[in-house]
Amino acid sequence: MADVKHLRVTYNDIHNLIRNATPKIVKEFNPDIMIAIGGGGFFPARVMRTFLRESSENKAIQIQAIGLSLYEPVQGTSAEQIGHEVIRTQWLGPDAGKLLVGKRNLIVDEVDDTRKTLSYALVELLKDVEGELLTRPESEREALRSATKFAIFVVHNKVKAKLAEIPTDTPYFSGADVEDVWLDYPWEATNIEEHDQLAAADKATRK
Ligand code: 5GP
Repeated sequence: MADVKHLRVTYNDIHNLIRNATPKIVKEFNPDIMIAIGGGGFFPARVMRTFLRESSENKAIQIQAIGLSLYEPVQGTSAEQIGHEVIRTQWLGPDAGKLLVGKRNLIVDEVDDTRKTLSYALVELLKDVEGELLTRPESEREALRSATKFAIFVVHNKVKAKLAEIPTDTPYFSGADVEDVWLDYPWEATNIEEHDQLAAADKATRK
């Protein structure tokens, strides 16, 4: 990906984007639980928990983890091309539906690129909810279904044509909307001091 523009982001950049985004999320969604998509969603979810606790009277917010990965079915397909599929590398346990039903579930990831991962996560979590509802008395199902909410938070949303959709009734929050660049995250760096120095130099040249 030599010719793709890169944007280096630091831990502090991410921390501050999450701090700035959280009050709106508390006001408009007030999550009970976070579903972090690994690995990139783990650090953001943990940081967000600190700010959620601060803004919502110390409410304890559980973080659950799922692992999703995009793979390329066609050999030689570049990372930018369509045709990617999402595979589960980790999921909630057998009680997934129980965990989600009746709750305000915030799905957290680091970046929304093509949107395939987020769309897959939402569709599959909704299937777990429906599976759980089938075990409940029919008379309770509709009330439980409407009490079960999902929203999405990503640290960065790339402003570009998306290959999958999020339903309009699902609140969507991003820490920052960015152009279609490749984001270099600090947890991918092997030399964090160098990463931070290069990020600072990039910022200085952008000023
Ligand atoms: P999507 O399904 O939205 O196309 O992509 C989701 C996944 O692709 C992300 O969770 C992330 O792992 C990876 N990805 C997409 N764009 C970027 C990027 O700019 N930087 C990094 N480091 N990973 C990315």
